[in-house]
Order: sequence, then C-alpha cells, then structure tokens
Amino acid sequence: GLMQSAQFVLSAARKGQFPADELPEVAFVGRSNAGKSSALNRLTGQRNLARTSKTPGRTQLINFFELDGGSRLVDLPGYGYAKVPPAVKEKWARLIESYLQARPNLVGIIHIMDIRHPMKPFDEQMLEFAAAIDCPVHILLTKADKLKRGQQGKQRQLVRNAVGDAAGVQLFSAESGQGVDEARAVIAGWLGW
Ligand code: GDP
Repeated sequence: GLMQSAQFVLSAARKGQFPADELPEVAFVGRSNAGKSSALNRLTGQRNLARTSKTPGRTQLINFFELDGGSRLVDLPGYGYAKVPPAVKEKWARLIESYLQARPNLVGIIHIMDIRHPMKPFDEQMLEFAAAIDCPVHILLTKADKLKRGQQGKQRQLVRNAVGDAAGVQLFSAESGQGVDEARAVIAGWLGW
C-alpha cells in the first residue's frame, strides 16, 4: 500500500525549512512517550522510519516523509520530553504551533494518546488548536495491549465523551497491530485514496 512507501524527506527546526506546501499532509502529534514513533513505524510497516523516544535527537524536529502518489506524513515533535528544561519545551510548543498555523495543505491530524493516560493538558490544547484551524482529528488510543478488553472500552468511551464529535477515537496497538487497518483507512480517506 501507499503507506508503506513512506520515505524520509527532511527535518525542520523552523518554518523556513518546511518543504513547499503543494502536497497534502497528515500530521502526527502526541505527548512524548505516548507511542507516536511506534505508531508511525507500524502504520508504514517500517521498523525504523520514526525514531523512538530513546533517541530524542531527531524527535525535537519536525520530520517530513513522502508517500508515493504525492502526499506526506509529518511527525511533529513529541511534547513534554521529561529531561529537557521548560525553555526547550516552550520552543517545541512554538514549533508545533508554527507548523499548524502555516499549513493550508494539512488535511488531518492523527493524535496519539497512551490509552492509560489520555486527555492531558497538552492533548486538550492540541484539540483546541485543531478546532481553531478547522482540521479533522483522529485519536489513536495506543498501547491498548496493556489493558484488558473491558478497560480498553472504558477508556475509549471516556475519551469519546470528552471530545464528542470533534474527533474520531479508536483503539490501537503498535505491539499487536490492533487498529492498524482502521487507522490506515482514516488516513486514506483524508488523502482521497
Ligand atoms: P513516542 O515518544 O511517542 O514516539 O513513543 P515511542 O514510540 O518511542 O514509545 C514509547 C515507549 O512505549 C517505548 O518503550 C515503546 O516500546 C512503547 N510502546 C509504544 N507503542 C506501544 C504499544 O502499542 N504497546 C506497548 N506495549 N508498548 C508500546
């Protein structure tokens, strides 16, 4: 599939380094350690596409990946990496905002939340931001394999109640592959495949 064709294009530390905005883009957001890199790797079927939290170097930047047929996946910095000072966190938040405000070609946001710790302040901020720019959001409650089925359903309902119609919500696991087809279908829909 087209998701599997993802290839790294460039990393940007500021707006001036973003690629031209002529291709539709799907952005991935989430708190640091939520499981965003693992989700990206699983969805593209590429073990090393996005670096995981253990190597925070590239994760401070916005990483652009191109798909065959002319579209992009965009990995926004994981917010709140514990070991950095507040000033650096502030810089990342500004970088994320500068991307979201500046991209007319942004067609959807995949918002990653650890199913055990959803809807933290950063998540609510992101959802407000997406609403302000009128961008569709789909939430992946990842690491679902860490909870029993009943707990998974409870967490999904909790998040669904919190976001209402503002976003899609689904269970996901990069570990087991649960929810991969559903998430790919949402992205395919946004990109008009
Ligand atoms: P990121 O900081 O959001 O990119 O998070 P990572 O993808 O690096 O994942 C953070 C940690 O959670 C790593 O130790 C992963 O192995 C683990 N992890 C990520 N996704 C899953 C999942 O679906 N299931 C389980 N059990 N662990 C996961």
